[in-house]
Amino acid sequence: MPNTKAYAAYAPDEKIKPFEFDRREIGDNDVKLEIEYCGVCHSDIHFAHDDWGMSQYPVVPGHEIVGRVTATGKNVTGFNEGDLVAVGCMVDSCQECDACNDNLEQLCSDMVMTYGSPDPHMKGVTHGGYSTQIVVDQHFVLKVSEKLDTKAVAPLLCAGITTYAPLRNWNVQKGQKVGVIGLGGLGHMGVKFASAMGAHTVMITTSPEKGEDAKRLGAAEVLVSKDKEQMKAHAGSFDFLLNTVPVAHDINPYLTLLKNQKTMVLLGATPVDLHSMGLVFGQKHVSGSMIGGIKETQEMLDFCEEHGIVSDIEMIDIQNINEAWERVMNSDVKYRFVIDMKSLR
Ligand code: NAP
Ligand code: ZN
Repeated sequence: MPNTKAYAAYAPDEKIKPFEFDRREIGDNDVKLEIEYCGVCHSDIHFAHDDWGMSQYPVVPGHEIVGRVTATGKNVTGFNEGDLVAVGCMVDSCQECDACNDNLEQLCSDMVMTYGSPDPHMKGVTHGGYSTQIVVDQHFVLKVSEKLDTKAVAPLLCAGITTYAPLRNWNVQKGQKVGVIGLGGLGHMGVKFASAMGAHTVMITTSPEKGEDAKRLGAAEVLVSKDKEQMKAHAGSFDFLLNTVPVAHDINPYLTLLKNQKTMVLLGATPVDLHSMGLVFGQKHVSGSMIGGIKETQEMLDFCEEHGIVSDIEMIDIQNINEAWERVMNSDVKYRFVIDMKSLR
């Protein structure tokens, strides 16, 4: 009998279904954990649907993993059986290149994603957290505070770090006007972090009905992007924009919101329409950002403990995953689904 139960996508256009496979035996540097909770990221859906043309089936998604350590290899320091720990979007990297030495493992050319990367230890590709257990090199395991609501910590491992890192790297601070575009999993964390960092945070949404929630999450104002008058009123006023839109879209209207020489960071991996005039006039910048390094992920988790920040979640059993994905695709999630992995045992 395979040692791990999971749910997997078998083809781009099919519902995801039960799957069983073997995790590797624990190595000297490995930590094994029983997965308690796994968040549902829009990337899970992109990958299952092969939106990026790189998926190998079956795909076991899931990179927002929280669980308890059940075993450690003989070289493992800092983790003991029973510890509450987490695993995010990466499970390996070369650990010796410039990127790794700069604590930017996500930029290492040998970085191994938690799911869907060629597995350096086994035949086939890596399998993610929609599963009962996982074995991971200790460098990629994070410590989680017992003080926070464990279920609501899971989404911090992707939605959290992916929004925290660019806000930090572009030095967002008190007194600045920051816009977060799209109130979904990433966006709601972006609002929480930007306001905790002291910025005047504006939720930029296509869904006016989410306005009240946005304010509860920390937004000082709500801007409905489909409303041309509202967009005009905010033109040229933003110090920074964080764009979490997961589908192809026109970024030119958002660029008009920036002050001169300021930046919009794109987080969705999707085609966008851009007219260079939107950048040339005003010398504006568009950049991308990918998750964050392991050191920064631990820093983000510590920041969350200090500020009492977790995700707003809806719990589901794994058997309801297909309906949850439908709702994510319809922008109908408040604001992250988290799978209770007990439902798979
Ligand atoms: P999500 O929960 O589905 O949220 C996306 C939000 O975008 C929606 O709730 C909606 O908010 C808004 N939106 C949807 N369609 C739109 C449209 N046509 N025009 C304008 N806004 C629209 O997704 P997520 O999990 O936050 O992920 C967002 C994207 O980031 C995905 O593409 C994901 O793959 C990517 N991602 C990137 C990284 C990275 O490292 N860069 C990491 C994780 C995820 P409103 O209803 O408020 O408009
Ligand atoms: Zn993700």
